[in-house]
Amino acid sequence: MKLFKGQNLLEFADRFQTDEDCMKYLAHLKWVDGYKCASCGHTGSQVRKDHSRTCNKCSYTESPTANTLFHKLKFGIRKAFFICFEMATTTKSLSANYVAERFSVTEKTARLFMHKVREAMKSSEKHPIKGKVHVDEFVIGGKEEGKVGRSYDSMKKKVVCAVELTDEGKVKRMYAMKINNYSSKELKKLFVKHISQEAEVTTDGWKGYRPLMKEYNINQVESDGGLNFKAMHTMIFQVKSWIRTTFSWVSEANINRYLDEFCYRINRSQMKNYVFNNVIEKMVRAEKIYQTQLICS
Ligand SMILES: [Zn+2]
Repeated sequence: MKLFKGQNLLEFADRFQTDEDCMKYLAHLKWVDGYKCASCGHTGSQVRKDHSRTCNKCSYTESPTANTLFHKLKFGIRKAFFICFEMATTTKSLSANYVAERFSVTEKTARLFMHKVREAMKSSEKHPIKGKVHVDEFVIGGKEEGKVGRSYDSMKKKVVCAVELTDEGKVKRMYAMKINNYSSKELKKLFVKHISQEAEVTTDGWKGYRPLMKEYNINQVESDGGLNFKAMHTMIFQVKSWIRTTFSWVSEANINRYLDEFCYRINRSQMKNYVFNNVIEKMVRAEKIYQTQLICS
């Protein structure tokens, strides 16, 4: 089966005309490396008309959506494909409100499904940054900048982010995550997940990075009003304004999901032809997530 390529909405609509087209595609992605019964582990099966498979040994039938992030979908699979396509290919990101209107689902349903897509956009953590990387912290939310309101400070979320740079100083990849404070212990979480010990790390003079110098190759320089971290500050500006304009309120529990989505788009911008396919593949491979695990706000 040919994988869908590109970002053209008309081509996409031609390729996925019915729910069946989508199920066929999911079944292909799910069992492309071979079938194994989810109940008994047997590898022989019969393919059914609806693209589900029935185990030859125990007769357990598994649909293409079972045990994936499409499990127990509240609307048609074709609609889900279109939402995935929009989320994967947009440059601006979408609000739940917009998706609800465009696809005639409730806002709550849209938000829940979009969180599942964000789950699929999470980094695999298999490709830590090895080259040049800038690391910095910033805050999201709380009172608008310029208006001082210390009592609202608790609404601000602290974030640490890493930006991998090309030799020309352009952004190659980005990772960001919420931290509880700016201590070494919290900052280290990002290093462990996304930065190789071989990487050449640059930070500003914050003392929280110093204890990490034992394990990582860190060079501290003066920020010089942001001039020494230009590419990184452009990214920080973008992620902040994206969150501010797209989401009226970002809960503590979901902040990492939005950051994952933002970084995913940055990190895939060189591979746009396969971005839809990559999302669907990750949706299929991810374990199903129950609604209770997704705090919806
Ligand atoms: Zn079986």
